[in-house]
Amino acid sequence: MALLLQSDLKDINETLDDHSPQELLSWAGDMFGSRGGILSAMQRAGSVVCHMAHALGLTMDVVFVDTGVMFQETLDTRDRIQKEYGLPVLTLHPDQTMDEQTHDLGILYLTKEGQEQCCELRKTAPLLKAKGRYDCLIGSLRRSEGGARGRVPILAVDPKMNCVRVNVLANLSDQDLEHYITHHKVIINPLHHQGYDTIGCNRCTTPVLAGEPPRAGRWRHLGPWAMYCGINPTDVKGGTDKSIDLPQPLIDKILGRSADFMI
Ligand code: SF4
Repeated sequence: MALLLQSDLKDINETLDDHSPQELLSWAGDMFGSRGGILSAMQRAGSVVCHMAHALGLTMDVVFVDTGVMFQETLDTRDRIQKEYGLPVLTLHPDQTMDEQTHDLGILYLTKEGQEQCCELRKTAPLLKAKGRYDCLIGSLRRSEGGARGRVPILAVDPKMNCVRVNVLANLSDQDLEHYITHHKVIINPLHHQGYDTIGCNRCTTPVLAGEPPRAGRWRHLGPWAMYCGINPTDVKGGTDKSIDLPQPLIDKILGRSADFMI
């Protein structure tokens, strides 16, 4: 095993930046095979990645964290993605039900500190149960979302999961995303048609009103400081010294040192 630093990815990120989402997805499929998975919360952008994988004939897992307090529409979307796109879905759960957690710790999501603990217990910790199973998790973050995602790289190291995050939609605009959804009749979480711009747990997600920013519906009760749950490492601050541990031949392939895997 050898270390791969975020700073090591600078050149390959510049090379990959010109490529389409489908090209990046194919690259990830070739590079990681069954050691790659698609991380999706069953929102519209995640559904687009799943559709692209289906259209490209990739059969990688879709990894979904069910916090136990998801909307039924989200669970139904997951089931449709699995059935209609033929993608195996790995659903991960927290150790406790929300009732058990509330009995032990109270209603955490009502305060900023509690929200961080709750998201850690119900999102981050379940995902960590899959640590070691994947060298790559494909995400659906887009720079046009703004905020912390405005400069999201194509490739990012995820020290917690010890894998590479591949943000295949990083350069997709809002208009291009909507065009893809319409053109390909992508399976979409029905809540998006009911005013929910982004969708998380039912305790912490509300529709967005006209004129509000897209993420205004998340943690509305906590104010604008609680913007992200932390399950995506690029949403939280970190330097280029972050690193992960992968086999040296795989690192060589990722960095383009192996001619077979030049994009
Ligand atoms: S979004 Fe809310 S309910 Fe869901 S894990 Fe985070 S704090 Fe808990």
